[in-house]
Amino acid sequence: MRDRRIYLDHASTTPLGKRVADAMTSFQSEFYGNPNSIHQEGQQARAKIDFAREEIAKSIFAKPQDLVFTSGATEANNTAIKGVVSYQLQKMNEKPHVITTLLEHQSVYNTVKSLEEHGIIQATYVKPSRDGLVTAEEVIREIRSNTILISAIFVSNEIGTVLPIREIGRLLAEHNKQHQTHVLLHTDAVQAYKHYNCHVDKLGVDLMTLSAHKISGPKGIGALYVRPNTPLDKLMEGGSQEYGLRPGTQNIVGIIGFSEAVKMLGDFETKSADGMEIRKIADQLIDDLRKMDNVEMNGPRGEDRAPDNINFTIKGADQETVIARLDLAGYAVSTGSACVSGTTEPSHVILALGNDYPDPSATVRVSLGRLNTADELRNFAHQVKKLVKS
Ligand code: PMP
Repeated sequence: MRDRRIYLDHASTTPLGKRVADAMTSFQSEFYGNPNSIHQEGQQARAKIDFAREEIAKSIFAKPQDLVFTSGATEANNTAIKGVVSYQLQKMNEKPHVITTLLEHQSVYNTVKSLEEHGIIQATYVKPSRDGLVTAEEVIREIRSNTILISAIFVSNEIGTVLPIREIGRLLAEHNKQHQTHVLLHTDAVQAYKHYNCHVDKLGVDLMTLSAHKISGPKGIGALYVRPNTPLDKLMEGGSQEYGLRPGTQNIVGIIGFSEAVKMLGDFETKSADGMEIRKIADQLIDDLRKMDNVEMNGPRGEDRAPDNINFTIKGADQETVIARLDLAGYAVSTGSACVSGTTEPSHVILALGNDYPDPSATVRVSLGRLNTADELRNFAHQVKKLVKS
């Protein structure tokens, strides 16, 4: 077994940043008040959360009061979709229609599917092309008279596709103006946030999901951006925390960690420069993999793909064996989304690409972080080559 571990699974989660851990530890030992209490201890905690909220909101060019803290992206995605549907159900005489894509994370895909299967909504799932692309026109074309929401992922956690959210937002605004409608746009920006501009007005989104643990922040904290006057019901009953949208005492330590992680990432220029560095080493690995027999790359090429994602299939290899052998060799990689690992079935995203891979085939997702090096990836490619040969 290799003694040094090489972590290549940053889309599943990232190691906690040192600065983040320090900020959380010192906050935790000093501030314990409930931020919703009016005494001094409470108000001190409140002031810290307000500051953190401002920091995170600033990074997406939103107002602090438009950010609702949640337990993570799964809850934010559920709130966005179920919250909009629940509100509209009381207003409409027909079943509401929701548009999404087959590139979504399970927390969007399964939410829409479950609402559809319970007969609550009609749903359209826009299918990507073989190379994993979805155009804005393909999404907008699906709008019907009863459409209330489009939920489209910004960057696919599995195959790295960068969806044209800004273009979808632009076309949707035109559509809404022309037809005097108010179809809402939600994006899951969890994987996009670290390298792309998540400016809520430029994207034209009404709702946007973020998660801290994908950016060196702690697990169990995320946020939903909610544009003012977006019709949305809360999921749970309780207190009036988070502007009445998310009852329950806030995860204050998590919020502090989230905001420190946001600061660590830096502004958009820094994030995009980091992305360019990561893309260089990712491209080298992609070139190496392309040269191997029985290896097929999944997802788009070039600028349509996030810089940190590499997804490939080894034809004729067993899924679990591949991941286990790479793990033994010291490499942490994923079969796709960590939320479905444990199953050996291809995910709905891989299936949607319609590739005719033989059974068995093993799909591997590599997702890079700032600290991965070209050397590590050269050695990884070598390891994959050995595996393919055997
Ligand atoms: N959306 C995307 C795109 C993700 O990658 C993930 C994490 N795998 C989630 C949502 C869920 O995030 P969380 O763990 O914060 O619930």
